Amino acid sequence: MAQPIWHGTEEEGRILINVLRRNCICDHDANGAITTSCESHKLFVSSQRFLDGLLYGRRVSERLINEEWLEPLYSGKDSAI
Ligand SMILES: [Zn+2]
Repeated sequence: MAQPIWHGTEEEGRILINVLRRNCICDHDANGAITTSCESHKLFVSSQRFLDGLLYGRRVSERLINEEWLEPLYSGKDSAI
């Protein structure tokens, strides 16, 4: 299986790595090497679809949140016709 490739920007990658570090629950040996990977780390190295979906969600989330709070352009209640 091919290793997934990050298609985001360097800044998006740095943010993702910081989030992963904060939530990582991998087991480490005395030298700091990973002995058992957590589910987050497994997903990041095994699924291109996961990485692409994560990036897509991050990029559209702000637009979707903003659209949720927009007033409708036309409600149909005050129509003069
Ligand atoms: Zn981990």
